[in-house]
Amino acid sequence: MNWRSVYEFNNRKHPFIPVLFHSMACNHCEEAPCMTNCPSKAFLRDEHTNAVLVNPDKCIGCKYCAWACPYDAPKYNPKSGIIEKCNLCIERIRGDGIPACARCCPTGSLDYGLPDEFTVRQTITGFGDYGLGPKVYFADKDMDRRMPEMVVDDQFKYDPAGLSDSVEMPTSRIDLKSEWSLAVFTFLVPFLTGLFAGISLASIIFPWELFVAFGIMAIFVGSLHTGKKFRSFRSVVNFRNSWLSRETLSFILFFATAVYTLISGSVYLWLVITTLVFGLLASFSIDMVYNLKSRTETGLFHSSNAMLSVLLFTGIFLKAGYPVVFILALKLFLYTYRKIRFYHEGKDPRWLLSIFRLVPGMIFPALHWLTDPSVSWILILTSVIAGEITDRCEFYLELEFKNPENELYSYFKKIRETA
Ligand code: SF4
Ligand code: SF4
Repeated sequence: MNWRSVYEFNNRKHPFIPVLFHSMACNHCEEAPCMTNCPSKAFLRDEHTNAVLVNPDKCIGCKYCAWACPYDAPKYNPKSGIIEKCNLCIERIRGDGIPACARCCPTGSLDYGLPDEFTVRQTITGFGDYGLGPKVYFADKDMDRRMPEMVVDDQFKYDPAGLSDSVEMPTSRIDLKSEWSLAVFTFLVPFLTGLFAGISLASIIFPWELFVAFGIMAIFVGSLHTGKKFRSFRSVVNFRNSWLSRETLSFILFFATAVYTLISGSVYLWLVITTLVFGLLASFSIDMVYNLKSRTETGLFHSSNAMLSVLLFTGIFLKAGYPVVFILALKLFLYTYRKIRFYHEGKDPRWLLSIFRLVPGMIFPALHWLTDPSVSWILILTSVIAGEITDRCEFYLELEFKNPENELYSYFKKIRETA
């Protein structure tokens, strides 16, 4: 595994924009979001060096730290099923040495020492300031080392439009193929919460065995995302700090109380309400899991927001017409707004998928519920489920990291816009 990545910007060497290289591993941040958000408390800080380390025996391979770190430092090792990262060569440092990267760098671009030993300059292109207190500093340029000088051929005609070919847009590291299990899990949680509300408050006929099967399926597919499945139980350990831990814990509590209520036929309202609160908390946690400083898109103002989905399914199972239409209208607004924004930003709005999401998924159920009570409730439910699954899949298709590569690309875009 390469714990250090070297990012190259302007690899086609366009003469009017700088050629930059970024060599980056872990920055051992003061406010390390990898550590705070790790659900299994696998991170620790070395008390002598302040290095941020991973305990391989506690990591469950959920990759959430890689999502939380905007510097792309935690690397998932598919062979071991856990995260690995730069450990600041603490063994060398303890022995009065310096990290291997600083020792080996042939151009002396990497150095190790105390901050006041360097002329410190923390802001640099492609090194985003997220307020995390990274402990890697960039020294001022050594002007004597800017050789050889580049001479631009004056026959070359500068065409700002040509810049578009000079820097490649980074491809997103997240795709539906790798995240499908999360898409299924995050759809099932709001659906099951709404279904439970319908069964216990509106006497919807639904076999409890099927409910249990759906719940087990949610737990099973959720655990597929981790590299160490038999250690997945550790994902609830950090419930005080990590929304991922809270998501798992509240869903387990929801499922346990729901199954007890359904099998025992309990009629206690307090138990039903407690179960629904756990379900709501699980959905709220799903949204918060994606609401990190280091993310470009969050789950909060998205049409597939899990809290909105819980309310939608609850409304449908309780057959509450106007609230359902209101939530569908809100989702429709959020969805259309996002697609128009994508169009203006030059991203692919996926028009065909959008039509499927909008017409059968939102407009059809809303209009029919308002105007045509004879339309089958099952048909409306099926349309909404199809629309919600589509939206959830799109959520994962559209997620983007903030990482050095994307930061460099944004820098390029700014140059191009002002050219
Ligand atoms: S660089 Fe990333 S992995 Fe390293 S401490 Fe900072 S947030 Fe954590
Ligand atoms: S348990 Fe998850 S968040 Fe924690 S170190 Fe392992 S992969 Fe990263």
